[in-house]
Amino acid sequence: MSKILPPSIQSLIEEFAKLPGIGPKTAGRLTFFLLTKPQKDINAFGEAVLSLKEGLVNCEKCFNISQKSPCEICSDERRDLTKIMVVEESLDVLALSKTNFNGLYHVLGGAISPIDGIGPDNLRIKELLDKLKKDTTSEKTKKIEEVILATDPSLEGEATAMYISKQIEKNGFEVNVTRIARGLPVGSDLEYADEITLSRALEGRNKY
Ligand SMILES: [Zn+2]
Repeated sequence: MSKILPPSIQSLIEEFAKLPGIGPKTAGRLTFFLLTKPQKDINAFGEAVLSLKEGLVNCEKCFNISQKSPCEICSDERRDLTKIMVVEESLDVLALSKTNFNGLYHVLGGAISPIDGIGPDNLRIKELLDKLKKDTTSEKTKKIEEVILATDPSLEGEATAMYISKQIEKNGFEVNVTRIARGLPVGSDLEYADEITLSRALEGRNKY
């Protein structure tokens, strides 16, 4: 990028370029697109960025990002408490909420990735196992019957699914462990899958 650009433009281009999937060219296009907009639109954009994290919490039960804890999903009594869907990110909950899945979620906060220094302890795997432990010892709550591993169909996602499945087995939890897979392109991100592909993958889940 040249020094011909005024600093305000230059710095916005640089900020955009820090976002995933956005190179310097796109960053430039976005910045110049905003320049064509009236000030009130730019203000609205800026406000949205500034207030992004305001009032957000992680749900104490599923760890999904929400405005309250327990979140809307966890406090919905019509939900099927016997099924729990394990996902990497909150964005995956958003994608899966478009399918007919009516159970609960558990957001891990990522996937096992030794290259990035992310091990099982950096994820909410212990919290998931605690949930299963609590569930099997309490007679009051309805028992979790199925854990659906819906981590991404990537190397990291597979490693995470494998690890969780082994931990569940090791602890002797009596629960069906299934894995969604069919129809999802390998190496992709769950959040980018369309809802038909996601629904099929969910219906075709296999014993894991
Ligand atoms: Zn929740």
